[in-house]
Amino acid sequence: MRVLLVEDDEMIGQSLKQALGSAGWSVDWVKDGLLAQSALADGDYACMLLDLGLPRRDGMEVLRQARAEGDRTPVVVLTARDSVDARVTGLDFGADDYLVKPYELQELLARMRAVIRRRDGSAHSLIGSSALQLDLTTREVQVDGERSQLSAREFALLHALLERPGAILSRSQLENRIYGWGEEVTSNAVDVLIHVMRRKLGSEAIRNVRGLGWRIAAAPSSAGPRAQPATAAGHTP
Ligand code: CA
Repeated sequence: MRVLLVEDDEMIGQSLKQALGSAGWSVDWVKDGLLAQSALADGDYACMLLDLGLPRRDGMEVLRQARAEGDRTPVVVLTARDSVDARVTGLDFGADDYLVKPYELQELLARMRAVIRRRDGSAHSLIGSSALQLDLTTREVQVDGERSQLSAREFALLHALLERPGAILSRSQLENRIYGWGEEVTSNAVDVLIHVMRRKLGSEAIRNVRGLGWRIAAAPSSAGPRAQPATAAGHTP
């Protein structure tokens, strides 16, 4: 899945990009607020990690404007500003969660998964149906009771399709969800990925709609009970 990393500190940005990459994320990294706005407008990101103290446009302003324009990308604010005021303002402006530097990578990854699940309308880590279920935490898929592990790209593809059951996603929509900037995408990359996925999920699981794109075959319902979303305000760094 793609994440937009907005961080002007070279060292923090480098190490985060590398760590997120190792965790299977495609990372687009920008270093100022204006570039963050244009990247957000163009890209289809599962999540944005946003520093607040940024050149050219403050992170808080980036967030406020994105939400004012109806952008619903889940946002985790990463900042050294640990005052209660800054946290409250960030959450009021539409941040989904807040982490104060320094933080543990494992906690950041868990928060990212949590805000993405909440955006998907589920506080549960499973999406899909009982016949085809995706675990957002372990990146495992379960087909008729059989579990198997997915690669980062397979996971991004299936997550995109399951998020909008029944909707047709075009090649470019899928590419946007799977690949970050600078990643080489061959013209048949999506076809190859879908071919592999059909072997894992069954040949009928992902349907091709000629000339338009692909959709998931069954219209899966959200799996599992809905839990109360965790409140974001109470976290301590
Ligand atoms: Ca900064």
